[in-house]
Order: sequence, then structure tokens, then C-alpha cells
Amino acid sequence: MNLKPFKPIIDLLSFAYCNILFKITYRNNSPLPKYPLKFDTSRNFKIVQFADIQDGPNTDPRTLELMNRILDKEKPNLVVLTGDNIDGKCKTAEDVKKAITNISKPMESRNIPWAVVFGNHDDEHFMMSKEQMMNFYMTFNYNVSQIGFKTENRVGNYNLLIHGSSSQAPKFNVYFIDSGKYSILGVYDYITKPQICWYKTIANNLKKQYKKTIPAIMFFHIPLQEFYTAYKTGYIDGLRLESESTSSINTGLFDAIVNTGDVKGIFVGHDHSNTYTAALNNITLGYAGNVGYATYGNPKLQKGARIFEINEANPSTINTRMIFSGDVGLN
Ligand SMILES: [Zn+2]
Repeated sequence: MNLKPFKPIIDLLSFAYCNILFKITYRNNSPLPKYPLKFDTSRNFKIVQFADIQDGPNTDPRTLELMNRILDKEKPNLVVLTGDNIDGKCKTAEDVKKAITNISKPMESRNIPWAVVFGNHDDEHFMMSKEQMMNFYMTFNYNVSQIGFKTENRVGNYNLLIHGSSSQAPKFNVYFIDSGKYSILGVYDYITKPQICWYKTIANNLKKQYKKTIPAIMFFHIPLQEFYTAYKTGYIDGLRLESESTSSINTGLFDAIVNTGDVKGIFVGHDHSNTYTAALNNITLGYAGNVGYATYGNPKLQKGARIFEINEANPSTINTRMIFSGDVGLN
């Protein structure tokens, strides 16, 4: 069926949903983060992204060693786990808690704030729901994740503001989204319309409150279809050793981001053998490779993580690079 003739009607309904129904029903009851996140005294804010640890209760010690060494070398201000943090190797709720506790240690033992989103494998054990797991993550001292906006089966749609080194004003914003699991419309899920409305509402509220656009970065697990477009049409930096396992349908998050203008980079996991970044509409789309030794990878590619460095003087520019096991003396 050709939906094109109905596009104006669909757009109008979607506009009305976001601007009327969603606004009336949405309540932001997110707590303040346990730790005020701020640019450091040298006006920098560094993030490490660990993608797809994807392991059970007996976490591969090589994964933890790599995480430890990367954190010692980089000393980030925030760590983000972009989903498939654990997997179906957990057979009981105790296993789930053990798997999460294992992966918490590199950050907890170094007093580094860390935040998570869910991927398609995180609740495949069926022993704990995503909400139960998020509540467990949040019990760790340095975990700054939030349940955030809940819609259908999506848990952990939230944002964290990064404040200035010497002021309370937010200078940068980090969005986290639950990109779902599997879809009957293809293999992988898509970010839903209510989640896009949530994003637009947060961005608009911030703009109203602070009277300017606060530059942002966004993390989730499953790449948008625009990753493939960016790879095909844009400059690419890094490796593409597998094709993009994107969302099965395009629900318009990227267009909403372009129209809103705050998000400068979208970073995902999911495709373990991709480390590339590519640009589309002045937005950087990128992967973080894979940090988990217990899961698949391309033998040509070392395990690793992605580093982001943002400077308070110019927070719209996100400097990013990969770090690999060889850079920290591991295989
Ligand atoms: Zn995945």
C-alpha cells in the first residue's frame, strides 16, 4: 500500500499526538542524578563507551581486565554501557545480579559515574524484567542510570545534564534511549513514536528553560537506518567489517534530531565488528566496536572501546576515537 498520499494526515496526527496528548500526559519525575556531572577543572568532560559485553554470571576475565586498563588509562568522567551488557547465559535472577555486579566493578572500584541502556540481549534470560534490572543497576553507588520515561516495553529513556566546571548552568546533555529488541516488521526493533515525542519534549523544555540549544550526544543500542545512509554517502573513519543490523523501520528519530538541532552525535553498539564514524547532516553517527571477549567479533579487529572528549569552550564539537586492547598491553 502506498502511504505517500496520506503523509500529510500522518504528519498532522503525529504532530497532534506529540504536542497535545503527549504533553498533557507526560510527567518528568526523573530524580536528580546522584552525582552532579560536570566539566573538570581543565574544562574537559571525557566519556568511555563500552559496547556489548554480552556475557553471563561468569564474566570473561579478559573483558574486565580490558575495561580496567582502559579506565586507568583514560580516567573518564562518565562511562556508558550501550546495551547487550549481559545476556541469556544468566539462568537465574541471582545470575543476572552477579553478571551486573561483575561489570559494575571496573567503574565502582574507581568511583566513576556510569550509565546504561538496554540492548536486544539484556533480558533474554527472562529472569528479571528490564525495570527490575534497571532498579538493580541503580543500587550501585556510582550508577547514574534512570528508569526515566517508560513506554510499552521500553525502560531507561533519560537524559543527564553536564554542568559547567565553574557554574551550575548545563553545558552539555547526554540522552539515553532503549532501542528495543526484535520486531515482526523485520529483525530488529525501532525507536517508537512516544520515545521520539519524549526526546522532542526534553529538548524543547531545555531550550525554553535555558534560552539556548544545549549541545548533546545520544546513546542507544540498535543503529538507525541512517547509519547505512551515512556510510554510503558520507566520509567514514574507522572500520566497517559487517553490514549494519539497523532498525527494521524508520520512525523518524533522525529527522527529529536534525530539526531540533541539539544532538551532534549518535553512538550505538550491536554490530561488534564496526568501529566507524560517519557524518550525515552534520551529525556524527558511530560505533564503538566491542569490549566483550565472550561474544562474536571479527578476528581482524581487537576488542576495544570508544572515547569521547568534549571541551566546555566548544561543546558542539565531539572529539572521538577508538582505543583497542593493544593500546593497553592486551591481546
Ligand atoms: Zn545487539
